[in-house]
Order: sequence, then structure tokens, then C-alpha cells
Amino acid sequence: MVHSQQSQAFGNAKVSVCNSKTLLNKPTGFINAYDFTLNPYRGCQYGCSYCYAAAFSPNPQMQQDWGNWVIVKQNAVELLKKELVRRNKNRWKKKNPDFSDRLRADRPPSIYMSTVTDPYQPIESREKLTRELLAVMVAYQPTLVIQTRSPLITRDIDLLCQFQRLRINMSIPTGSEEVKQDFEGRSPSITARLKAISNLRDRIPDKQGHQIKFSVTITPLLPTLPADESRFIEKLAVADRVVIQEFHAAHRGFLMASTPQEAIALKQKYSWWYDRSQQSYNNFKESLIAQLDPYDVEIMEDKEGFAYD
Ligand code: SF4
Repeated sequence: MVHSQQSQAFGNAKVSVCNSKTLLNKPTGFINAYDFTLNPYRGCQYGCSYCYAAAFSPNPQMQQDWGNWVIVKQNAVELLKKELVRRNKNRWKKKNPDFSDRLRADRPPSIYMSTVTDPYQPIESREKLTRELLAVMVAYQPTLVIQTRSPLITRDIDLLCQFQRLRINMSIPTGSEEVKQDFEGRSPSITARLKAISNLRDRIPDKQGHQIKFSVTITPLLPTLPADESRFIEKLAVADRVVIQEFHAAHRGFLMASTPQEAIALKQKYSWWYDRSQQSYNNFKESLIAQLDPYDVEIMEDKEGFAYD
């Protein structure tokens, strides 16, 4: 990434712009089966307390300030055009020998957007960068997965309708607004996210030859208050897949983007869940299975759940 320059602030966030060297990058971990990851921004205004992406901040000061800055990759559209053309000519194979078994010239790439930012965080309403990237991608018909927690995605229904292989993963790690507020105070309400996924489902037509899929990713699984659990699970029937993933509370510092004191306070507040976290996870999973059984919803865990198919 080339050095960034300050731009106009947006809400709580200091905004800067940069010219990135690459846009389509090699995936690792849970999503390594995809050809590429695509992150239109660096940083994320939602600033979720558990966000592992904070660890990839440009410096320790910015890691501490996670949620209060965002860097716009101002050359993203131009880069994507170049990289998709280059890939089409199959040059990726030569440049990336590791990928040679996965990148075949006869199939479009698979792209995961995004892994270390939210492509529909608030700044996107001004920049429209994700929208522009979608407009470029649609001509190449990649297998595309969009991971977001923002209802702003509904703005782009006109473009989303044009993809043939698309999965929209809506992140909703808890069914309780109070818990959401404690762990990710700046993110949209759970109600707004559920409404957005239902809206997308209703408005993206089921065209022949198109496979548009909708997941709710409860990842990482945060506590859901017993009083909210059943009502929350019932609403998940709007998706065709629900993904759960254990929150590794034993992780150093517990919450990557919080101070240790904040993390300890949260863990204590939700001790009824975290003191027996394995049991809490298993109980929630069992409730999901029991309640969603009458519906056509697959329940998946961990890496398997992040696959397109
Ligand atoms: S929305 Fe995603 S990328 Fe943004 S802070 Fe939350 S977990 Fe991190």
C-alpha cells in the first residue's frame, strides 16, 4: 500500500485515501478455498470490540484507535479492472504458482468481499466504492460472497440481481440488542439487519441459471439473552444457511479491539454465558437445530459455513 493522505472526516472516522498495490489478494484461513479476497477499505467504522482485523492495523496507535479511522483505496476500481483482465489472460497462474491448481482459465474467479473491513460501512454511502466494484465485477461473473452487517447493501439490489453466483452473508453475532450494543455499539441494529436480508430475499428475483443465496453468520457466537433466543432463532428462517462459530474467549486479551479492562468487564457481565462457554455454544446450537428443523435452512459450523456452496 502506498502512503495515505488525509481526506474529509465522516461521522466518527478520520478518513484518508491511499493507492493500493493490489486489490485481489490471496485468502488464508477459513476462506482459503476462494481465489481472492477483496477489501475496498482499510479499517472499519463499526469498530467491533472482538474484531480480529484490528490486528492488521498499519501501526499500534491505529490498532488502539480501531473504529475511528478508515482508508479508502482510491485506485480500487482501476486496479480491479486490471487484475481481472490479467487473470482472464491466465497470467495469475504464472505469477502465483500456488494458485495454479485452483485458477483455471475456463472458470471465473471466486471472490470473498470482505475479510478485514465491512464493504458497506457508513463511509460507503458517500464513496460508493463497493458499488463501483460490483459494477466492474458483474461483467466477469465471479462467484461472489459479500460479508457485511450493514443494511446499506440493499442500495445495490439493481447490481446484485445481475450476478449469477452470489452469496450474501449477513453478520448477526447475537440475538439481543443489548449485547450487540455492548460488543459492537456502532453497528446497525439486529432488527435492521434482519429486515435487510428479508428485503434482499424478496427483491432479488429467482432467475433461471442464477444461484443467489443468503446466510446469517452468527460468527463469532456472542451471548443471546434467554428471553430473546427463541424469537431471534425464529427470524433466522429468512436465510437458507445459518453459520455458527465458537468465540475463542481464551484468545489473548479476549477482545482484540478493546482494552483488557473493557474485555474483563464484558466477560464478567456475561459470566452466565462465558463461565461455561462450551455448554452455552452447544445449547445454542441445539436450539437452532430444533427450531429451524421445519424450515429449509442448513446449519453449518466454522469453515464449512463460509463456503459458497
Ligand atoms: S464490521 Fe467486521 S471488519 Fe468491521 S469492525 Fe466489525 S468485525 Fe471488524
